[in-house]
Amino acid sequence: MEDKNKLSNPQKTIEVIQKYNFNFKKSFGQNFLIDSHVTDKIIRAAEIGKDDNVLEIGPGIGTLTQYLAEAAGRVVAVEIDEKLIPVLEETLSGYDNVKVINEDILKCDIDSIFGGKPFKVVANLPYYITTPIIMGLLEGKSHFDSITVMIQKEVADRMKAGPGTKDYGALSLAVQYYAEPYLAANVPPNCFIPRPAVGSAVIRLKRLEEPRVAVKDEKLLFGLIRAAFMERRKTLLNAVKNYREMDISKEKVEEALVKMSIDTRIRGEALTLEQFAKLSDMLSE
Ligand code: SAM
Repeated sequence: MEDKNKLSNPQKTIEVIQKYNFNFKKSFGQNFLIDSHVTDKIIRAAEIGKDDNVLEIGPGIGTLTQYLAEAAGRVVAVEIDEKLIPVLEETLSGYDNVKVINEDILKCDIDSIFGGKPFKVVANLPYYITTPIIMGLLEGKSHFDSITVMIQKEVADRMKAGPGTKDYGALSLAVQYYAEPYLAANVPPNCFIPRPAVGSAVIRLKRLEEPRVAVKDEKLLFGLIRAAFMERRKTLLNAVKNYREMDISKEKVEEALVKMSIDTRIRGEALTLEQFAKLSDMLSE
């Protein structure tokens, strides 16, 4: 289908919305794409080919889905809003490789969708559940190769931030433990209808074959990380002392830091993932 006839043409989107008398729901994070340059950038960043299975989260009226259907082998799109299902039946009627499922992605058995075969996740995500969706995928057992998503720019910056920067935090470390982040594009509010209040970005997370660091006790590693960033202006030792969710001993952390030749007044925000991992291993002994 030519670009001008696709939903990325704002006129086509307006026609469909009027035809179905569709009301945007803020509670579902509905901001639909109306820019073919952006849909192209997403498809390119996701590196989709005819052999690929693609899971799309939240197809909306099918704007990105039309491009995915042309680039991929098979597309399954999971949409929570039942009002959009008849719309999608019409806008995707020309594609025989797309299946739409009317479900909440957070309640979906994702791995059963492609019968255990590998797949790529591509989406313009509903921003209110960006972190649970991404962390659910990263921590889960499903066989995805990569996640290429439109998210809030501020969240994308946090995902790829390194130590000592203001954006660095528990999300950066969790994402980088499992994946290699790549910022593919910044996207301004005028590429959507309605316009979101914040800037957006397309980020690709390529799953690492093995987590970036090997640790004896993952739970302890992420407990330490959470403790460190719960009170990021405090020293790591004081943050750990105040952290009640896990029993991490301040004295043992102090001893381990000394052994690692790290200043005991260091803040968690200055530690690399490798240092957190080493510290966690020393504490688990
Ligand atoms: N993909 C479309 C586009 O780019 O124009 C729409 C993107 S819009 C930002 C997010 C979509 O996710 C909406 O269609 C919304 O209804 C859907 N959505 C919101 N929460 C969801 C959930 N828990 N599970 C599945 N879809 C959801």
